[in-house]
Amino acid sequence: MIQFHDLEKQYAHIKKEILDKIEEVIASRVFIQGKYAALFEETFSRMQGAAACAGCSSGTAAISLALEALGVGDGDEVITTPFTFIATAEAVRHAQAIPVFADIDPETLNIDPARVEPSISTSSRALLPVHLYGNPADMDALSALASRFGLVMVEDCCQAHLATFNSRPVGTFGNAGAFSFYPGKNLGAFGDAGAVVSESPELINKIKMLLDHGRTEKYLHETVGYNHRMDGIQAGVLLVKMKYLEEWTKKREKLAGLYKELLGKNPAVRIPRVHEKARAVYHLFVVLVENRDQVAERLREKGIATSVHYPVPLHLQPAFSFLGYKKGDFPCSEQAAERVLSLPMYPELTEEEVRTVCAELNRIIK
Ligand SMILES: *Cc1c(COP(=O)(O)O)cnc(C)c1O
Repeated sequence: MIQFHDLEKQYAHIKKEILDKIEEVIASRVFIQGKYAALFEETFSRMQGAAACAGCSSGTAAISLALEALGVGDGDEVITTPFTFIATAEAVRHAQAIPVFADIDPETLNIDPARVEPSISTSSRALLPVHLYGNPADMDALSALASRFGLVMVEDCCQAHLATFNSRPVGTFGNAGAFSFYPGKNLGAFGDAGAVVSESPELINKIKMLLDHGRTEKYLHETVGYNHRMDGIQAGVLLVKMKYLEEWTKKREKLAGLYKELLGKNPAVRIPRVHEKARAVYHLFVVLVENRDQVAERLREKGIATSVHYPVPLHLQPAFSFLGYKKGDFPCSEQAAERVLSLPMYPELTEEEVRTVCAELNRIIK
């Protein structure tokens, strides 16, 4: 069986280091925030080329904290993509704001800057692009739109650790970048964790206050905040794994290159385009095919696991029915949702396995 994910293989490589670090954290009894989280923040902001970082409890919390700290709130509209994981738009609701969707570019599957402008209203306050699958959105065009219309921008970088645009790390274009360390992400903790990066240390300080009960002193609370803090053990795990992230990312890029070489000539398999200025980090390797569910089933029969990210675009989710969207509103997202198929992708996947996947796929669809 070729697995879709294989966290066991990764763990086997770093087991001793991880267990030593966890023991160290337990011995220090710094379970919440504290020195490991601070060291994580320092290391992660350096790695992502950002001025400052706030570790937190999840990627979802990172997005809503960033929006709230930027003053986005009740009734404000936040323009985002309908073709993403639910958390992107859910976080907008957590900040009391309203998600407004703009359709994707059918070639990159990221929010289409040309479709953002028609979605802007007098209530628009923020842009929330997603670097889907680790493939950076067009940050030149989006940054220009944000400054032209006076919008703040939060980048959803939850799938895009180490991705760059114009050689600049994602998360540093907008006012803030939100990251997830959900275990299956390119950099994954052993539980939930997240972070916000920003070029503004003031914004990060505000986020740090919000995520720790709005506190300015031990028992003095400036505002009604949250418990969205980072655990010491998660910070310790991330400190170990960060040392390997560039190496793991290079392996993903190499495997993606092989996939492209072996599938690129098949006219029935479409591969999302990466912007010429971007470094994509392939959190997922996604292709678009007709009759996706049958293709997935035939691959499964051949012992190849696949997945779908994501089968239902957000404007058609029951959770967002109150927004009043209907089928047909975002045709590019709807078509993508019917066709996307995620193939196995993780650093420990072998080239041999990629060749097997491609050979089967090329046999199934010609
Ligand atoms: C994983 C993810 C999130 C949410 O992150 P959590 O840490 O699971 O809360 C948000 N947006 C995208 C695009 C994601 O992939």
